[in-house]
Amino acid sequence: MAEQPRADLISPDTHGPRSHTCGDLRADHEDAEVTLKGWVDTRRDHGGLIFIDLRDRYGLTQVVFSPQDNEAAYEAAGRLRREDVISVRGTVRPRGDEMVNPDLSTGQIEVKVQELNVLNTAETPPFLVSAHEERQMDTSEDVRLKHRYLDLRRPALQDNLVLRHDLYQTTRHYFDEKDFVEVETPVLMKSTPEGARDFLVPSRLQPGRFYALPQSPQTYKQLLMVGGMDRYFQIVKCFRDEDLRADRQPEFTQIDVEMTFATEEQVYDLTEGLMADLWADLEGTDLETPFPRMSYDDALRTYGTDKPDLRFGLELNDVSDAFADSGFRVFESIVDDGGHILAIRVPDAGDTGRAAMDRLEEHVTEEIGAAGLIYFQFPSDGSDMEQNLSTDAMPKEYGRAAADQIGAGTGDLMLVLAGQAPTVYHQAGQLRLHLGEKLNLRPDPGEGPDRFVWITDFPLVEYDDEAGRYVSMHHPFTAPKPEHLDRLEDNPEDVEARAYDLVLNGNEIGGGSIRIHNRETQEQMFDLLGIDRDEAQERFGFLLDAFRHGAPPHGGIALGLDRLVMLLAGANSLRDVIAFPKNQSGQEPMVKSPDWVDPEQLEALHLQLDLPPDVEPPAQVARRSRLAT
Ligand code: ASP
Repeated sequence: MAEQPRADLISPDTHGPRSHTCGDLRADHEDAEVTLKGWVDTRRDHGGLIFIDLRDRYGLTQVVFSPQDNEAAYEAAGRLRREDVISVRGTVRPRGDEMVNPDLSTGQIEVKVQELNVLNTAETPPFLVSAHEERQMDTSEDVRLKHRYLDLRRPALQDNLVLRHDLYQTTRHYFDEKDFVEVETPVLMKSTPEGARDFLVPSRLQPGRFYALPQSPQTYKQLLMVGGMDRYFQIVKCFRDEDLRADRQPEFTQIDVEMTFATEEQVYDLTEGLMADLWADLEGTDLETPFPRMSYDDALRTYGTDKPDLRFGLELNDVSDAFADSGFRVFESIVDDGGHILAIRVPDAGDTGRAAMDRLEEHVTEEIGAAGLIYFQFPSDGSDMEQNLSTDAMPKEYGRAAADQIGAGTGDLMLVLAGQAPTVYHQAGQLRLHLGEKLNLRPDPGEGPDRFVWITDFPLVEYDDEAGRYVSMHHPFTAPKPEHLDRLEDNPEDVEARAYDLVLNGNEIGGGSIRIHNRETQEQMFDLLGIDRDEAQERFGFLLDAFRHGAPPHGGIALGLDRLVMLLAGANSLRDVIAFPKNQSGQEPMVKSPDWVDPEQLEALHLQLDLPPDVEPPAQVARRSRLAT
């Protein structure tokens, strides 16, 4: 039903500029004549007095209307609703002792209103927007994103954007002080391979050709090094057309960095300095540097992932030897085929009941996708170990031997997964995270200590079964370790890269490498990746050519700005730290992008639509595409 417009309430603003924001006034402003402007957050009518919490980005101030002060203003205030925009003039007075609100920075005072201007009215908002309600969990995210301008009025979101702003400032200051130059690189560029699909932009002036939006400015920043810029950084948008499972955004922001003559140590040092400044400025905490380092191999074997969460234990242990002659056919055949048996000791879980163990088994098979879970329980009363495997299938001594190896004993639970690497490591890593959550060992976002770790010594390439060829672990511009160069042709899987990732609390927050800077090695790399010489010249000729003209050694890193802000803000989703994010389907429900375009636009670009049968374009677009077929 259409709402009454209440247009008669609106009046010109006769008050001039505001004298204070809604977060400014304190007890020592008593008797000051002030002008405040903002949104009606809440209204309370107390027969003869109307209280309004007036809200802006800076806070809330209680303003009070009484008929004795201004009859017309009092009447109008009685018709105000949430989110109306008003200007008030009045006098600051202290609140009575029992009315002081210690949770509010302006909680000691209120403003007695002499004059009211209603600057605009608001329809009933589709969801409650109030400084008194930090999280609107009951409102679906799409509704909030559709009315993002309302959602953004929530202090929690505004605080996140302010934190994000602060992060830009500290970052820019940090790099500026160290002689880095912020250089913008093109948004309309040519495809670079960072492992995702490109977003493409058709060219009108060059019919049939496309720009690609940068997955990162990787090649440009390298060209800046060849161009002698020496130290570059940029806070830059990157675009990757990926399936939006988990928490990803198709456009995201990086702090992108590159240095000439860089060594790994210099990149670590520089990045740790930035983190320390960010944590000092934004969190008020001292970070301990240098950060610990862990090889990719150790991370995989101990945590089952290259982004380990070091805030809790439950490490993986290889107990293959203990079970080698156990007689249990499943284990024996896995080990014979070169596989691994991995065990996790869960302290103080030896008495976990059958139902909970059944649920855990189900999680392991259904969610994690392992073939099965074998477990051994050591009751806390010291009674005999129990296993979910008949003693005919495997005598108990083998479980005990494995438990001895990993230090599991009375009161503990030992969980065992078996399979081939790397799958079994990934599965055990997922089980570890699941246990960490179930046992409340993983602090919530924003809580608990922050644990950074550098992951180093990555393999240069891995074999992609689907593609039937090697693919880069990072990207094709990453330098192999010089001492492994001779393995490049015959044993590429044994070549380690000069690459590193920075991980925080189980999140990859950055990655980079020392780069290849000579043409021969770069060509060798393309060969290895199955990119033939012609294609390499066609796609990356500019870089190969640049390497012929005195390209200096160089290296760098890129940090995921959105994720950093999310972790610093203690937010649960990237969407909570981006002003206008895309939803899980890659759409922006407010402006409705992506959207159909006019047939004339397609025509100018020489494009015709060839849509799948289940996609129905609007009539006008449909007419055009039918014409085309
Ligand atoms: N361009 C890389 C990325 O976006 C980072 C780097 O190697 O500096 O992941």
